[in-house]
Amino acid sequence: MALLQIQEPGGKPAKVLHRLAVGIDLGTSNSLVSALCGTGVETLPDDNGQHLLPSVVRYSADGSPLVGYAALSGLVDDPENTVASSKRLLGKSLSELQNLPQVLPFKFDPEREETSPAISTVSGSKDPVQISADILEKLKVRAEQCLKGELEGAVITVPAYFNDAQRQQTKDAAKLAGLNVLRLLNEPTAAAVAYGLDSEDQGKVCVFDLGGGTFDVSLLSLQKGVFEVLATGGDTNLGGNDFDHALAQWILQQAGYNAELDFSERAILNQLAMDVKHQLSEQDQLEISWQDWSGTITNTEYSEICAELIKRTINTCRRVLRDASLTINDIDNIVLVGGSTRMPVIRQAVASFFSKEALTNIDPDKVVAIGAGIQADVLIGNKSSNNFLLLDVNPLSLGIETMGELVEKIIPRNTTIPVARAQEFTTFKDGQTAMSLHVVQGERELVEDCRSLARFELRGIPAMVAGAAKIRVSFQVDADGLLSVAAEELSTGKKAEIQIKPSYGLKSDLIEEMLQSSQENAQVDMELRSVKEAQLEATQLIDAIANARSSDGEILNTEELLLIEKAVETLELAMKDSSANKIRELTEDLNRISGDFASRRMDLHIGRALKGESIDEVANSSS
Ligand code: ADP
Ligand code: MG
Repeated sequence: MALLQIQEPGGKPAKVLHRLAVGIDLGTSNSLVSALCGTGVETLPDDNGQHLLPSVVRYSADGSPLVGYAALSGLVDDPENTVASSKRLLGKSLSELQNLPQVLPFKFDPEREETSPAISTVSGSKDPVQISADILEKLKVRAEQCLKGELEGAVITVPAYFNDAQRQQTKDAAKLAGLNVLRLLNEPTAAAVAYGLDSEDQGKVCVFDLGGGTFDVSLLSLQKGVFEVLATGGDTNLGGNDFDHALAQWILQQAGYNAELDFSERAILNQLAMDVKHQLSEQDQLEISWQDWSGTITNTEYSEICAELIKRTINTCRRVLRDASLTINDIDNIVLVGGSTRMPVIRQAVASFFSKEALTNIDPDKVVAIGAGIQADVLIGNKSSNNFLLLDVNPLSLGIETMGELVEKIIPRNTTIPVARAQEFTTFKDGQTAMSLHVVQGERELVEDCRSLARFELRGIPAMVAGAAKIRVSFQVDADGLLSVAAEELSTGKKAEIQIKPSYGLKSDLIEEMLQSSQENAQVDMELRSVKEAQLEATQLIDAIANARSSDGEILNTEELLLIEKAVETLELAMKDSSANKIRELTEDLNRISGDFASRRMDLHIGRALKGESIDEVANSSS
């Protein structure tokens, strides 16, 4: 809720201003900017009346880059200095970029680190943040011209599966472009907002977003105007480009062309394939000619050419439904997003899978930007009532490594964000003054099966017996999906914290894989966890007894000593391969056998303490 403002005594009442805020869909292929114009939110055109800005930047030796339509010809004429699909490059390391399925025509700057790659261009090294910033700046200038004023904020949309690194770099790019980011918003959520589905009482929505290079499916649930993302899935390497490519291959095949195409021939053929694809969305049959070949294509043929790709999109829908334990009958509305959903073959496939027609009355290119614009208008404070709440979820559990390489989940998967959760932990060893924290992501019980996000240390914990220190570890995921973790020792207030360092390459298929393996291994994992925990308890007891023997061994008689040694030996043996129950049973035995020794030691130390030795020493030696 916004804070109420109180006027300064005697001051003039503030003029009611309409504050300028925009929504930006920073797309892989095309980007758009939208704002409240008159009564509704609309996308804003450039001087030529074009709303879409191709997400292409061409760098030249003499100054400012060309962005959008002006840069397109560079893809053919000057590929080394012209960057398309820079969104795909965000948050990736050099080796990840070099292993992308599509070959990039660029040289990478050899001076840059593996983790922050940049493209060498005639106008210097350009990293993905800079390239995205150039696109955002172009949209900012466009918006300020259209709206005749300075922007106060922007909502920028990102794919639901963008990881921390990608979200952070999107924010960095916005900052570099001089934009104040009000919030990053997931693209499917923005689309549902554009359709005003938040005003319905309740229902479930499937957002099907097929863009130029990415595919996302999201299931949203609405309850009294509140949105919640139930499940998301998709494929970061499936989009309109793949349809172009399939059609281009078909043309080559029809033309009987076997030779290698060079880069510019390939670009020309791809452009042709794209034009044909677009026209097939308007008409059912088309003449094509390429080099000295010509022929016709119908939508029926086209759907055969793309059958595999279409199947992949539908299979993803099926998986996401299953993930949310829903069936097609539960879905009230389907929203189509992304230029590629204009294809009749896609519309048919979606309608037949869901047995229902999708909502399409808002231009699928613009729907995300419009939703972002509506949200921006609310967040900047132009709307005081009817604020709707947008809820997103974190896709995988976030947790911390504990002793025995186990994972303690702090924020479970599918928790609505923003969220903050904390849990207390303690030290494992006597006199332990530092704690190493390892933040992990995933559903499995063992650290090695999860994804490592970051490590940091908390130092300066006062020396105490094992288990006495209280360390509060708090996790916070903000509305943009960024994670911060803090650890605080409660008696001294010593604190260490970390903003999660860029974590690279969390792809949707990796999420799928992680979820699937956690389901498959749930039983085994639970058992393993139980064994590990029992082993830990046993180790702690054995260590404590060893410590006690070295400091106060003289109060043990031979018989007792033999019994204890025997029990320790049996327990150590069992720890190697026995069940958790067996280990617990033997630990209990050892505890009982050594109980007498422990209580005599206690008496001894209390006696010493009464004679004036410090309690601290007692505490330190009496574990
Ligand atoms: P992104 O979200 O990746 O920026 P868009 O939503 O702008 O992508 O979609 C771009 C894709 O949509 C391109 O592959 C383009 O070829 C395709 N597209 C645009 N218009 C049409 C159309 N009329 N028919 C088929 N595909 C289209
Ligand atoms: Mg898009």
